[in-house]
Amino acid sequence: MAIQESLSAHRSCTTCPYCGVGCGVSVNKEERANTTAIAVSGDSQHPSNFGKLCVKGSALGETLGEHGRLLHPRLRGKDCDWDTALSYMADAFKQTIRDHGPDSVAFYLSGQLLTEDYYVANKLMKGFIGSANIDTNSRLCMASAVVGYKRAFGADAVPCSYEDLEQAELIVLIGSNAAWTHPILFQRMQAGTAKLIVIDPRGSATSEMADLHLAIKPGTDAALFNGLLRFLSRHYYLDTDYIKNHTQGFADTLAAAQDWSPELTAATCGISIEKLLEFFQAFAATEKTISFYSMGINQSSSGTDKNNVIINCHLATGRVGKIGAGPFSITGQPNAMGGREVGGLANTLAAHMEFNEQDIDRVSRFWNSDQIATKPGMKAVDMFRAVESGKIKAIWIMATNPAVSMPEADRVKAALQKCPLVIVSDCIANTDTARCADLLLPATGWGEKNGTVTNAERRISRQRGFLSPAGEARHDWQALCGLAQHLGYGDQFNYSHPADIFREHAQLSGFENHGSRAFDISALANINRSDYDALAPVQWPVNQEHPAGCKRLFTSGQFFTPDKRARFIPIAPQPPKQQISSDYPIWLNTGRMRDQWHTMTRTGRVRKLLDHSELPEIQINPKDAACFQVNDGELVRLNSASSKMVGRAALNGGQKRGEIFAPIHWSETFSQDSKPSALADSSIDPYSGQPEFKQVPVNVSPLAAEYFATMICAEETADRIWNWLQRANDSSILHWYRVPLENGFRYEIAANQLIHGRELTSRIMDEQPQLFWQELVTPKSQRWIAYDDSLKLLIFSGKDWHQLPSRQHLENYLATPLPESPGQLLHPIKPGVKMICTCLQVSRPQIEEAIAQGINTVEALGETLGCGTSCGSCKPEVASIIRTVNASEDTSMESTPVKQGPAKTGRNIQRNMVQEFIPQ
Ligand code: SF4
Repeated sequence: MAIQESLSAHRSCTTCPYCGVGCGVSVNKEERANTTAIAVSGDSQHPSNFGKLCVKGSALGETLGEHGRLLHPRLRGKDCDWDTALSYMADAFKQTIRDHGPDSVAFYLSGQLLTEDYYVANKLMKGFIGSANIDTNSRLCMASAVVGYKRAFGADAVPCSYEDLEQAELIVLIGSNAAWTHPILFQRMQAGTAKLIVIDPRGSATSEMADLHLAIKPGTDAALFNGLLRFLSRHYYLDTDYIKNHTQGFADTLAAAQDWSPELTAATCGISIEKLLEFFQAFAATEKTISFYSMGINQSSSGTDKNNVIINCHLATGRVGKIGAGPFSITGQPNAMGGREVGGLANTLAAHMEFNEQDIDRVSRFWNSDQIATKPGMKAVDMFRAVESGKIKAIWIMATNPAVSMPEADRVKAALQKCPLVIVSDCIANTDTARCADLLLPATGWGEKNGTVTNAERRISRQRGFLSPAGEARHDWQALCGLAQHLGYGDQFNYSHPADIFREHAQLSGFENHGSRAFDISALANINRSDYDALAPVQWPVNQEHPAGCKRLFTSGQFFTPDKRARFIPIAPQPPKQQISSDYPIWLNTGRMRDQWHTMTRTGRVRKLLDHSELPEIQINPKDAACFQVNDGELVRLNSASSKMVGRAALNGGQKRGEIFAPIHWSETFSQDSKPSALADSSIDPYSGQPEFKQVPVNVSPLAAEYFATMICAEETADRIWNWLQRANDSSILHWYRVPLENGFRYEIAANQLIHGRELTSRIMDEQPQLFWQELVTPKSQRWIAYDDSLKLLIFSGKDWHQLPSRQHLENYLATPLPESPGQLLHPIKPGVKMICTCLQVSRPQIEEAIAQGINTVEALGETLGCGTSCGSCKPEVASIIRTVNASEDTSMESTPVKQGPAKTGRNIQRNMVQEFIPQ
């Protein structure tokens, strides 16, 4: 067992709470007079990141503090004490179970929970309540990867380590924009010498850095890898000894791929045969090949098959369990892997055990329970359908925001609103899901939580608390134990420290294991508290065979199937469940932005993280934009068969024609109609239950806004505006979004008719503040300024949003006195600029200007402007700007954003937008 040096009084090492990379974070805490100063930096000793942090991790210190926190239990809108909350919850659960059986209740968890929280939740629901209705938002992220590994290897076990990324000679990124979503891993890839091939319909910061980009048609990955398998076979690149000695099912799998000639594959994927063969030859010729994939593969109605079609090519070439080689599924969330370990998914039991007779018996003996669930529970989509139908009558949601993130999110929200009992545990008070709750429970947040997480390379790291819980917040495992005690299971949930839970979790992993289950941390089964506190990051398995952990799995070619052989899975490529049509003629792809995390409940608290993008930008190819009569920067509405969303069009020549992209982060807390998940229907993978978010047919139309207003206000006024916007039945307001500032908010409102600023105020404010007005009329637009003495409100309004003053400049007036003359507020009038380097506040225009002066490399721009020299997350974007500027100087208009589309006359959308999936 590896033990870390004891920690100094003011420094602690913990783990970043955002993505599955699992970077180590070093925290320096200094007590001053009445304040605590927290400084966050990368932990140089942590083997996942060696001291680096991306822009989100670097800003962690700025997310701390009680502002916006849920500080007390709240029952139907009123604060209460914990005992009242737990008694209420226990009585309601007991009665519901008595009247309707254990399957009438559910827990919906999160990859943000620590393993100890997850373990207790799973034990309580499956072991004692007797239902397996416990699922997690990881279902939306990597459930297909789990099933893919289990089908191929007999276990949900990632074979690779991050260091393989540095040792590889070829890295194939499939459906991953790692430069933004897993930035530290992308930097590790770049630190090596591997050739990078990106397979992604979309041009991204990652594809910009690639040696080869295959912009395949959405959803055609399985065809591509079937074509690769056929190519490997026809050109004698198979590892026949490996296939013979370590696998099963090759003949059938190859037969299923036989029709996928290079010609058919290239045509199906919509790429040139030259590019296709370049990829095939590179894969065939490079022993040390990593296939690196994430949501672009998993979030599909055939995501499990897509996982296996990739794994098939690795098994066929014997590239599993070898240095610098393997199929590497990357998790999105910090502890998606920990959830998989404990059984946080409805269809697994616990510690990599299943709902079979032997495992049920084994776990029930270990937990000393005769009430254990005997069948899988409902997966996420089915679970919320059951909430809607009334089958589930009580649900406890922890650390996640399904009213934003689930497919058909509006429907999920409506289901929660009518559910008899919704309990939400969160550290943040005001989320879309929290607003549906009957009972709110304050949870500890990052910096207060104490436990373990497991990252994408199976590495267990400690997340250590260095702050006291805010208000009355409790750890989730404490709240769960509280419920268990009120339900009468106190003896089995008598933990007093997360180390007690971790020890039991480790004991279960080794219980009657005898090498039959991949997840085994039995060497930690007797860990005491001080060793737990000092536990250094370690990759499982951690057992008798691997007491210091294990970098790479399956090195001996032995797998966790009954005959120890891996399984090939024959794959027949499937098109997306929904298809584009004349009503919905373009594909919507969704994903993450560089500077935001999930539904922005934490990253949305940091002003500078919104400098990169402050509302959803809809990336669209200029030619498609012309078809839809959309101009750059204009608000646009997306419609699908399920719902609608609004964002700002960002014309981008790198965006593939026939497909648009929207970010997933915005919610109704920040913006009206800005949830792309609401547009997705409930199409799911039949094996994993994972929803299809990546291919949603939509229509695009300009939002006919005639009037825009910017309002900057202090907190109290901001709440009023938000409340008014929620209840307003004002058909003239087309859209709004808001940007959190240090001491208030900035609102941006679009309306379909001209509204005088004074009238807008009277609509919003119950009591009229003493406002001062100035009207300015220019040839292009009419603009108003309104403000009050104490700056509760500062309004600018006009006909053209380009004509409104610099927002960043105006935001300063929350902290500094207003100028003598209101007219001066309009200076300098310039549109808001996109911040490329968030850390050092270097904007796109600054970078473009420097390039124009001949500073033409990422390094030289870093030396001159500082961009990219802190966390480095912006380097791919800086490189992209260099290429764009250089290309535009070469008069290549294809990659240059188009500023103006055709006149908005008629709605003659070209029908040739419809692209058919080419059948095999
Ligand atoms: Fe956190 Fe960034 Fe590291 Fe992910 S890559 S764990 S978000 S610091």
